[in-house]
Amino acid sequence: MLELECDMKKEMQDFMSRKLKFFMPDWSDLVNRDYNYVAEEPLSDVKVYSHEIYDHANFDGLLVSKIKLEQSGKNLEAIMNNGGIHQYLRYNGPVFGDNGAYSYIDEKTPPFTVPDLLNYYDRLGVDLGVSLDHIVTPKYEDDKHLRKDITIEAAGKFMDRHQDKGYEFVPIGSAQGWNKASYYESVEALIDANYKYIAIGGVSSATTKTIVGILKHLHPLIKDPDLDVHLFGVARIKSVRTFMEYGVTSLDSASMIRTAFKGWRKNYFDSSYQPYTAIRLPFASRVRSADFKALVSLGLTDAAHLGDWEADLYKMLFDYDKYGLYSAEEVTEALALFESAYIRTYENKRIDGYLKTLKEKPWKDCPCRICKEIGIEVLIFRGNNRNRRRGFHNAYVFYHLLQKVLDDPDFDVDAVDDDDDDDADLPSAGAFSDRFVEIADDVDDTEQLTLDDFF
Ligand SMILES: [Zn+2]
Repeated sequence: MLELECDMKKEMQDFMSRKLKFFMPDWSDLVNRDYNYVAEEPLSDVKVYSHEIYDHANFDGLLVSKIKLEQSGKNLEAIMNNGGIHQYLRYNGPVFGDNGAYSYIDEKTPPFTVPDLLNYYDRLGVDLGVSLDHIVTPKYEDDKHLRKDITIEAAGKFMDRHQDKGYEFVPIGSAQGWNKASYYESVEALIDANYKYIAIGGVSSATTKTIVGILKHLHPLIKDPDLDVHLFGVARIKSVRTFMEYGVTSLDSASMIRTAFKGWRKNYFDSSYQPYTAIRLPFASRVRSADFKALVSLGLTDAAHLGDWEADLYKMLFDYDKYGLYSAEEVTEALALFESAYIRTYENKRIDGYLKTLKEKPWKDCPCRICKEIGIEVLIFRGNNRNRRRGFHNAYVFYHLLQKVLDDPDFDVDAVDDDDDDDADLPSAGAFSDRFVEIADDVDDTEQLTLDDFF
């Protein structure tokens, strides 16, 4: 136990000395350790996290949200019985506790208190914990001042009680706002409350220009090299150096994992972050009954036919990859026919993407363990074991690119194929995409913008 504590202390020291820390939000991202892709069955009940697949974790720390943990069906008692959050996640590195404010965005006030949250973090055993916050949203425009003030007041109480109780985790103060002035007021209050680590929330769908505009405005407050600054939900390779210039020291984002199975066309990234479309081959047995009835009424299939069709396509992909029995065009044509019948709602919009994926075979060039082990399977959009592994691969690519950006001043970020502000391919991130409009560089910092200017 003492050894584990020493390991964790060393991990934490290494972590704090890093110039930019990347946290991966944990959304119970597990796959079967052993899976037979042809038979479509797990070979054991053992499930693993990405950091148990790769030799090194593709992040500097994990971020756990109170709400996400509860949604996963693992309540605090179960995790405590399992020895705490590090044991639960089977991870020795830093764990960042977050209260999950998006989940109660529709509530007038947060559903728990500051002492509840502190106690929760302490019992969980997190290394860093963010203060209680309430997100400002255009949906409740009239409450914007109330929400900011709740967040500021909670942060003050959070720090006072953290000091009184002598909690060991690092307290992080959350700043919420809707324009430069309101973020400035929030950050100023956090610094007055003696926070050495602050987190800027509510900007995950803002453009890089908007975020930089806010950071520029905050610069007099956050330029202190002893102050750590986190940006919630923002990890953009091309902008990392700019964010750092303005004092940002940590980021988090799960978008590279989510887009593997939520993105329309951008599902897999190569080493220069060029996106590829994963090939949809859903399980025939899971076709929705309404879709199935429609297919039957069109005379396109019956139950047996659909199953055979799916099996033939899977074999075709396998033969294409392994033996080169078909051309990429032939496989794409077969997929297009299947897609037009089976996944009609998408109107074949992804077919060009399939052809590119099949022609360029990006899985063959990736040195990551997943691509080496499962090959073309990583690019087939089909079930958790392929889809989440594709997300793990994306996190591997992202983290390796990030290290290049950080370690090599000559590394040309413009060569990275990252769209940066383009979150439109990811519905979950796009939910708040209209929240901000760009703040032009020439906007007077003292100008008071209305909420409409931002949303
Ligand atoms: Zn890979």
